[in-house]
Amino acid sequence: MALVVKKFGGSSVATTEKILAVAQRILSEKKPDDKIVVVVSAMGDTTDNLITLAEGIDKEPYKASYLREMDMLLTTGEQISISLLAMAFQKLGQPAISLTGSMVGMKTDSVHTKGRILDINPARVFEELEKGNIVVVAGFQGADKLGDPVTLGRGGSDASAVALAGALKADECEIFTDVDGVYSADPRIVKNAHKMKEITYREMLEMARLGAGVMQPRSVEMGHYFHIPIHVRSTFNDKIGTVIREAYTLEDNYFEIRGVAHDPKVAKIAVLGVSNTPGIAYKIFSALADANISVDMIVQSIRNLEKNITDMVFTIDESDLAQAKKVIDKVAEEIDAASVLVEEDVAKVSIVGAGMVGNPGVASKMFGALSKAGVNIDIISTSEISVSCLIKGSQLVEAVNSIHDEFFKE
Ligand code: ASP
Ligand code: MG
Repeated sequence: MALVVKKFGGSSVATTEKILAVAQRILSEKKPDDKIVVVVSAMGDTTDNLITLAEGIDKEPYKASYLREMDMLLTTGEQISISLLAMAFQKLGQPAISLTGSMVGMKTDSVHTKGRILDINPARVFEELEKGNIVVVAGFQGADKLGDPVTLGRGGSDASAVALAGALKADECEIFTDVDGVYSADPRIVKNAHKMKEITYREMLEMARLGAGVMQPRSVEMGHYFHIPIHVRSTFNDKIGTVIREAYTLEDNYFEIRGVAHDPKVAKIAVLGVSNTPGIAYKIFSALADANISVDMIVQSIRNLEKNITDMVFTIDESDLAQAKKVIDKVAEEIDAASVLVEEDVAKVSIVGAGMVGNPGVASKMFGALSKAGVNIDIISTSEISVSCLIKGSQLVEAVNSIHDEFFKE
């Protein structure tokens, strides 16, 4: 007997035909005493469409005072897909029941639209499995201590699935998606990107954090925490995908890096002419932290030694831009900054791999590839297992291809 959590993304359940096909596939692979929990996202573009609906009320639906209502709205998307999938199982003769995030005991904090899972008490899931049901769970959602719905950030169904797998002590968590696995770069952009057999949690987390769309970063963190192997594979064929785990177990091609990640949804803010004195960085970044806006790359430069002023430049997620601009305009006034500049046509390209630790040639090879493609580097940042460059958004495709070609020449 195995207890397996299987997660299907929005494109896998985009129509009722696809929902029936998902049910059929699960049943065809199910051994008689397997216990199965299926976590699903909302059908197709439902979440985006719900956001568009909210924009019909106010063009800025992510204002602080709306966030609870946004969660009330967005959680309906997954409620549609779970009920239909449970019905599809029943139609095929398999007992099944759908449960919302709150029904499976998914407890979150109260940070609406960006909630974190605090604890899971899956008693109800065990009960339903015992009765012989396949349990269909709404991804992307939990409930706070008031019982109010809280969503886990876009793409949050992955996190729901992995966390649930951890709480249930499942044997494996399978993430079914519209790609065959994790690639060395986005195969929609890079023609000769190759599929990895395995990748470590650390490297996958870094790829995801830096924009690789396959898995939401938090879900990888969670897999690492619970030591649950995560198998990323295609909904539309039965090929083995990529397994995310602690350490490599298979022979694979060795390259200096594991992959190239990119993120077009970046915006840059520059606070120019701020006094070069203690407490300035604190004021800027604590104001952003208070507004729950995470900052990525940060550069402080000495601009004018005589006047003792400097520029503070940083990047954020594009979706936080409107709110961040408000926060920063206010701080800029308080600290008497000369001006605030915003740049939206920026993007981030990164290389990732544990093997680059202590190999100084790797970063310069990346810069060489960018220069070959005629791409200017605006900001560089590094971690132990990655190097990222901020570049012009319009040059992103050339940049990713040039870097991938450089590192993955056969
Ligand atoms: N439906 C949600 C979204 O689009 C969650 C998910 O798909 O994982 O972000
Ligand atoms: Mg951008």
